Amino acid sequence: MNVHPEPPFEHTYAGLPAHFHAQVAPTAVSAPSLIRLNDALAKDLGLDTDALRSRAGIAMLAGNRVPDSARPLAMAYAGHQFGHFVPQLGDGRAILLGELVDSDGVRRDVQLKGAGRTPFSRSGDGRTALRPAVREYLASEAMAALGIPTQRALALLTTGDTVYRERPEPGGLLVRVARSHIRVGTFEYFFYRNDQQAVHTLADYVIDRHYPHLHDSDRPYRDLLDAVIGRTAGLVAAWMHVGFIHGVMNTDNVAISGETIDYGPFGFIDTYDPATVYSAIDVGGRYAFDQQPGIAHWNLTRFAQTLVPLLDSDGDRAVEIAQHSLEAFGPQINAEWQAGLVRKLGLTGQQEGDAELALDLLTGMADQQADFTRVFRCLSALPDDPASDGGRADAVVRVLFNEPAAFDAWAKRWRQRLAKEQRPQAERIAAMRATNPAYILRNHLAQRAVDAAADGNFSVMEELMTVLASPFEDHPGYEHYARPPQPEEKVTRTFCGT
Ligand code: AMP
Ligand code: MG
Repeated sequence: MNVHPEPPFEHTYAGLPAHFHAQVAPTAVSAPSLIRLNDALAKDLGLDTDALRSRAGIAMLAGNRVPDSARPLAMAYAGHQFGHFVPQLGDGRAILLGELVDSDGVRRDVQLKGAGRTPFSRSGDGRTALRPAVREYLASEAMAALGIPTQRALALLTTGDTVYRERPEPGGLLVRVARSHIRVGTFEYFFYRNDQQAVHTLADYVIDRHYPHLHDSDRPYRDLLDAVIGRTAGLVAAWMHVGFIHGVMNTDNVAISGETIDYGPFGFIDTYDPATVYSAIDVGGRYAFDQQPGIAHWNLTRFAQTLVPLLDSDGDRAVEIAQHSLEAFGPQINAEWQAGLVRKLGLTGQQEGDAELALDLLTGMADQQADFTRVFRCLSALPDDPASDGGRADAVVRVLFNEPAAFDAWAKRWRQRLAKEQRPQAERIAAMRATNPAYILRNHLAQRAVDAAADGNFSVMEELMTVLASPFEDHPGYEHYARPPQPEEKVTRTFCGT
């Protein structure tokens, strides 16, 4: 693949009808400084990292220089926010420079988040503070390393400007990359304007870009709905396997590509409690950890509604088709969730009682205030026969439970089940280590990195990135990043901070 000093942006989205977007250039910032460049991602996109680090490159990343190949725009979208429909949201502080085709042939958006006001900004300043930009960078890259479909972070910058939130904050800018930024809310934007033609055009565009295998289908829109339902089920189950809570699953934050986008007041569970809510704005717990499958279904129902006119010329029949597709979501995500849990236990084939065994462990963890990530990671190290190491590895897991005896009873059942697997112990341990991360972006770690960054110290973020970039490896000397927070370190509230 060629490496380009200047990105060869392409513009398929800009080619859609004019009311899909607003052409708007970024507003320059005072004194841009490049804090972090994602070299691997840049190379994937065919970009020259030296050129990106040059004055001209930094000016482009900051929005101070628009390269000739860019056609900057803000996308129009709507969305249901906490259940209430808002007919116009749109990119109020994000500007798309264009698309790049990566080394796998995948077309990806390059967007500047915090690049200044757009026609969709309403009363906002079009900027982002450094703190949430750091959180979003860390989350994007941590999730990618965990193997979860996600937007990526290409670059983090400081702007030299102050933004005013609850208090004055240093300004930041995130350059992010996604398969696209088309959301459920993009479909809703046109649907609620009764712009059938636009929904049709958007659906065709999405099939072209994200689901090209549906081209030859004789019922492409139904298949599109099924495909989005399937990807969303896989995505939300994958979140839950690592204890991730998105925090704002409004329809404007749900990507049609099946990637995680818009990291705001997200959090990762420490002590396992399925009702966990971190987001300070989610007062009702609408987006709590265990509500995510139900909310995903609710969001997909909003998506299906916009497609109904395309599903069949007979309105009743079209609604029936949509309902039928949506009914598949529950069983699908349930199956994915249980299959993943069974994998986390080191079991291969699903046998009768496996899911129950896994769910019983979760119940025990909730009852005994055990740390979700730590339990699964330490469980991975247990030998088939507890006597083989004198119970040393078991002791590490036991202390994670308030009443260790509760774990013993469960571990006995687990080992009886393992005995039926006929898989060598080393192979089972390797498989478990590859599915149960040692390192996640715990809230208190993110907080520490963000606070240091706001003081101009990026070394905490850098160190954290080292372990998050390979979360399934052990990192000698960095064990403290794998530990649950001490009671006084716990961060129980997360904020958008936008
Ligand atoms: P979010 O909470 O980031 O999902 O954003 C919801 C909506 O508010 C989107 O339309 C954003 O573009 C808009 N928005 C958020 N922060 C700002 C800001 N600082 N300036 C302008 N628009 C914003
Ligand atoms: Mg958003």
